[in-house]
Amino acid sequence: MSKNTRVPGYMQSKAARNTRGIIGDREIRFKCSLQNTILDVLRGRPGWQEVPGPNIQQQNSQQNNKPAAGSQTSTQPQDGKGTKTGYQPVPPIQRNSDGDWDFYWCDREWLHQNYDTMFLHEHQKILHFRNHYELTRKNLMVKNLKRLKKQTEREQGKSEGLSFDFHPTTYELPSEYHIFVEEFKRNPGITWIMKPAAKSQGKGIFLFRRLKDITDWKKGEYQPLTDTTREVPETYVVQRYIENPYLIGGRKFDIRIYVLVVSYNPLKVWLYRDGFARFSNTRFSLDSIEDAYVHLTNVSVQKNAPDYDPEKGCKWSTMRLRQYLTAKHGSEAVKKVFKGIDNIITKGLQSVQKIIINDKHCFEMYGYDILLDSDLKPWLIEINASPSLTASGKEDYELKFGLLNDLLNVLDLENRLTGKEKRIGGWDLLWDDGPVLADDGNMECTTNGTSVTTANSFLGCHNDRKRQLREIYTSAQAIKKT
Ligand code: ADP
Repeated sequence: MSKNTRVPGYMQSKAARNTRGIIGDREIRFKCSLQNTILDVLRGRPGWQEVPGPNIQQQNSQQNNKPAAGSQTSTQPQDGKGTKTGYQPVPPIQRNSDGDWDFYWCDREWLHQNYDTMFLHEHQKILHFRNHYELTRKNLMVKNLKRLKKQTEREQGKSEGLSFDFHPTTYELPSEYHIFVEEFKRNPGITWIMKPAAKSQGKGIFLFRRLKDITDWKKGEYQPLTDTTREVPETYVVQRYIENPYLIGGRKFDIRIYVLVVSYNPLKVWLYRDGFARFSNTRFSLDSIEDAYVHLTNVSVQKNAPDYDPEKGCKWSTMRLRQYLTAKHGSEAVKKVFKGIDNIITKGLQSVQKIIINDKHCFEMYGYDILLDSDLKPWLIEINASPSLTASGKEDYELKFGLLNDLLNVLDLENRLTGKEKRIGGWDLLWDDGPVLADDGNMECTTNGTSVTTANSFLGCHNDRKRQLREIYTSAQAIKKT
């Protein structure tokens, strides 16, 4: 699909073709480490040109005779995900001295290997902040949230701290093992979930109810290491399992939400209206805690289920979910759910705002995973810095294509917008150094015609992105002319 991807009509306008951006009077040169929807989007974008050849890290590896990014023997930290070993930045060489790209959708390993010694020109944009793992490693995310909660309680009182109660009780192992055991004994019979702090796609996860299960596991995991490829024992989190998930058709699901951060200082955050609910393929039951197909909603897990139907898939759009919930529980209840999700998004980012190394060249597109319980309370499960961009079907491709195209519209390397927009395609500005309010407090969420809160947040609402883009480009052009 790559080269011949159909470019949306609004992008084919003469104005778009004649775009001259901040880059100057030339095309925008991009690099991309991934071979999926993002590459299609970049290749299909008018005026953008792919930079061929090996990436900088590979050139560097060759020069230093070091293993390439992602190689098994690399000693660099893997996104803060994976074995964290003695991090030794590669010796500085003249990287990117020719400024051979303007935009780089790089992978996290590349960034870790190159960022510290890299010089970026004024106009260059690159995916990921240097230490994004502060939010995306499961243990660090919880640590940062707990810290901000304490600070908020100190400064604003205990009741304000309640707004942080959206992640299940979590302990880091092995460091907090003893505190966990005390908590475990205080709550006999409940279910816990054990997760490697730095893995994804459901790898290494298991549920348990008896301390014996974990002591056996602990013995194996934390024995003196004989395996020379592992340098330190892996960090895990143990987390209270949400035993009462909200079920639809008897099945559990979680919600994937896309959030774009273009700056941490000041914090500027966009929320995409579309996302999806990922369902498990098998009816929920607490009788079979060893069955991953029942309890883990990751697509990478579910697609291996024996009765998985690739045609049907296991996804609902957030709009369909919002409509379903509204029909069942009424719009007030649903507004509360989505307000709770907005709170999770902003609190998560605020918890690392002072820690993330802010850099005007960097941006991040996070995938938040949220689970609803049977009381419609949203829980934060995790935040991904590299949400999957591989499409699982036509609808999924369309969603991701629009999402990524609009992300480039927000970044606006072409300099076609005014910079004052509160909505760009499917992205709504949620936070701009403070909460952003919708222009019209009575604006309607068109899933069922009810009004939404005054926050500029439209998750699960109708995404008429093409029409909206046409409007803002026309109006920006008019403003720029005057
Ligand atoms: P990974 O990074 O491997 O995907 P997650 O933390 O996202 O790990 O967990 C994988 C899946 O397991 C989630 O999508 C969710 O369905 C389920 N899950 C994880 N933590 C919990 C929890 N505390 N309670 C209920 N379900 C959970």
